[in-house]
This record gives sequence, structure tokens and C-alpha cells, in this order.
Amino acid sequence: MTSVAVVGAGISGLVAAYRLRQSLGPTARIVVVEKAPRIGGKLRSVDLAGGPVDVGAEAFIARRPEVPALLDELGLADQLVRPSPAARPLLRSGGALHGLPTGTLMGIPATSDSVRTLVDDATCRRIDTDRDRPLRWTPGDDASVGDLVSERFGSQVTARSVDPLLGGVYSGLAVTTSIRAALPTLAAALDAGAPSLVDAVERARPTSAPGPVFGGLRGGYGVLLDALLAASGAELVAADVRRVTSDDRGAWHVDGVGTVDGVVLAAPAPQTVSMLLDTAPALARELGGVELASSAVVALGFEDGGLPQNSGVLVATGELDSSGVPLRAKAFTLSSRKWPHLAERGGQLVRVSFGRFGDADIVDRPDADLVSAARTDLHEVLGVDEEPTTTFVQRWYGGLPQYRPGHTDLVARVEDAASAVRRLELAGAYLHGVGVPACVATASAAAARLADALA
Ligand SMILES: Cc1cc2nc3c(=O)[nH]c(=O)nc-3n(C[C@H](O)[C@H](O)[C@H](O)COP(=O)(O)OP(=O)(O)OC[C@H]3O[C@@H](n4cnc5c(N)ncnc54)[C@H](O)[C@@H]3O)c2cc1C
Repeated sequence: MTSVAVVGAGISGLVAAYRLRQSLGPTARIVVVEKAPRIGGKLRSVDLAGGPVDVGAEAFIARRPEVPALLDELGLADQLVRPSPAARPLLRSGGALHGLPTGTLMGIPATSDSVRTLVDDATCRRIDTDRDRPLRWTPGDDASVGDLVSERFGSQVTARSVDPLLGGVYSGLAVTTSIRAALPTLAAALDAGAPSLVDAVERARPTSAPGPVFGGLRGGYGVLLDALLAASGAELVAADVRRVTSDDRGAWHVDGVGTVDGVVLAAPAPQTVSMLLDTAPALARELGGVELASSAVVALGFEDGGLPQNSGVLVATGELDSSGVPLRAKAFTLSSRKWPHLAERGGQLVRVSFGRFGDADIVDRPDADLVSAARTDLHEVLGVDEEPTTTFVQRWYGGLPQYRPGHTDLVARVEDAASAVRRLELAGAYLHGVGVPACVATASAAAARLADALA
């Protein structure tokens, strides 16, 4: 009987276990090892204000096929919900609210029209004359998004348009985020010889496909996690895996499981490094280069709240309140405006997000301080002063791996080293995209390689 262990019961590990069941058949022994008292990792649905609410990831890119396809396979197609098209996102910049710039690539404009209300006239002129200045780029290069955008358009575009969008996805800043890893279509346009940044952005922007960009789950991500675990038929074992080692005959030894024929490691990079220190030191060394950003989400329930009809507000870098004190929140999701299925429950729900790479101290504050900071900033940005009926604080230590410049080369070296290790595969958000659809794709590919190796 074939036996495999999957370390980590986040979305990556659970998808790997489910795909392994599909490939290896009903008799295989599949064990999922998880050190936390619950499955899901960075996905967590809690009961709040009348039903399940996601306090980690709350959406996915629905134009990628992975999550809708997975929901279909698992008989959960009716769980797929879409955000309200009428509720548009806002941006807080320069002490005022603006519509989120349109026609950009992650906030990088192709014309000054996209950001005219956010930046000064000199910056608009720089964008409009970008084609007059030669762009230096060697194919295969990488740099931070912030360095390139600030060099071409100036720092206002970076702080007011790009940072808020990248910060929402990576908990990073434009200056710490790789062009090649985070914006691969932009890197491809630059490699192909785009003569200016505006030309590269024009080529790299996604063509507007029909239908909403995002999707979510009516019952929260918890529904998908439970369905994956059930469909995988895996044993769930509670253990903190410190080391995985292989013996002369190629069998793997995993803490809490014993001996198995193959392993998928689906834990975050730092824990994976520890597990591999003895067995694959070169691989562990490469993987040690991945840094993480911590964040916190404060959910606030209100009877009314007096919220605007918008889906949320992103905050520009360096925003101050009316007395000159920096805002701590980086984003507000007006969940009950954004998601019709949450609006149906009555009341209003807001998620306030804190924490960017290099600014993790806020995450260590006591709950009361985080709730207080959330309410203060919500009052400053949207004028909400109602007492919340419910509060919930969720900290995400090491919530998101950082895709620093050079990340794609680092991943290539890691995967090259991993391919030399027999019947061991890696999955997780640090490899080929932090979003849930990317994690599903990476884990499915890892499971397919392991099943091939075991065949
Ligand atoms: C606040 C926040 C909001 C986000 N929003 C979105 C969003 O809206 N849309 C989107 O697509 N993505 C979003 N993301 C990203 C996405 O949620 C994550 O990238 C993804 O869930 C990571 O899944 P994973 O399985 O790779 O890793 P994880 O979720 O980190 O799972 C790894 C698991 O391994 C376990 N583990 C670790 N070490 C060990 C060990 N030694 N032994 C046993 N088990 C171990 C952990 O306990 C954990 O359960 C968000 C992330 C955060 C933090």
C-alpha cells in the first residue's frame, strides 16, 4: 500500500492531499500533519455577526480557473459568490477620499489621467513625457516595483497609487516587491523591449475580460477546507514536524506519522527550512532567503455604521490624520457593502487591516489597542463613530511571504535543489504566487509530480 504524508493543512496541503487521493486511488494511506489546533492556515472562517466571516483571505481572483473549478469538482458550485458591482473601492490619499485609479497595472498608470487627482502637475508631466526618456532594462533583469516607478514617474505615484494596491496583496511595499515575481506581464513587456514604462504598462495590462474579477464563498473558506479534507480521505494528525529524513531505501520519516513513501511539504518557508536542514541543506539554505510580513485583521460589526456605498478603502503610504498623526490601518474592507450575501444578514461588517513588511510592531499590540486603532482610523477615514456590537482580532504572524527582487531566481534554485531529492515535493504561497488560486495550482502540480514518482 502506498503511503504519503502532507505537512501543513493550509489550502496548499489540503489541495495536495485531495489531488494525491485522486491519483493514488482509494487504498493509499494519506496523512495530513498539522501543528495548529485547526486546519486552514491563513484561511479562517469564524462565526461573527450572524454567520461565518473570513478573517484571513476573504476572496480569490475568479478570472483564474482554479478555485471555481475546485468548487465544481467538490459539488460546491453554489458556494461561489461575487462582490456587488455597484460598490467601488476608494483610496485615501492626501487626507481625502478618491476613487481607486482605473486603467493601471497594480496602480502603475499608462497615462497621467489615471492618477491626476492623486499626484501633482509635475508628476503628471513626468508620466506624459515618459516616452521621451530612454528606459534602461536588460532582458532577464529584476528590480523592485517601487524603484522603477519612482525613477520614471516620481515617488508620489509609488506611495499614493502602487503601494496601497501591492500592500493589499503582499503586505509589502512597492520598494520591497519584485517586478518579475509580482508583475510578470510587466517584466515580459520590458524583456520584449518596451521603450518606456508607459509602453510596458500598456502592453502588460490585463485585457478587460467580461465578468467580475473576484469571487468568494457564501459560507466562508471553511466550507472549502472541510470539503477538501473529507474528499481527500486523509488522516489528520496533530504534530509539530521538526525534521523529515529519508533512509537508505528512500523511505521518509515524518514526526507524528512514521515511515511513508513520499512527502509534500506545504508549510511556510521558515518551517520548511527547519524540516530540511539535515536532509537537504542546500535546499534549506536557498529557502532561508524568503522573508515574511506579519499582519492583523480587526473585524468590527455595527448596527448601522453609516458606511458609504463602497467596497472598501485602501490607504496610501505616509497618510496622516487631521492632527498629523500617521494612520496605522492599511485598508478597510466594507464587507457588508462588498458582499451581497453578508449584507443579507443585516447589520454592517468592516474588516480593518494592519501591518506592512517592516512594520510588524502593531501586530504585537494587545487586542484592545488594535480595536482602538481600528476605530480611530475608521473614524478618521469614513467618519464612523458608532460603538461596534462585535469585535474580533486575528493576528497573522508571518502572514505573507515577501516576493523581493530576485525571488523568481530564488524559487528556480529552490525547485532545482528539490528536484534532486527523491519523492519530496514543495508547495506553498512562497513559490508561484501568494493568492489562493496560485496556491491551488502549485499544490496540484506538486501532488502530480509526487504521484508520478510513486507510480
Ligand atoms: C490577512 C491575509 C489576507 C489574505 N487575503 C487573500 C485574499 O483575499 N485572496 C487570496 O487569494 N489570498 C489572500 N491571502 C493569501 C492566502 O491566504 C495565503 O497565501 C494562502 O492561504 C497560504 O496557504 P498555504 O497553504 O500555502 O500556507 P498556510 O496557510 O500558511 O498553511 C501552512 C500550514 O502549515 C502548518 N505548519 C507550519 N509549520 C508546521 C509544522 N512544523 N508541522 C506541521 N504543520 C505546520 C501551519 O500551521 C499552517 O496550517 C491573504 C493572506 C493573509 C495573511
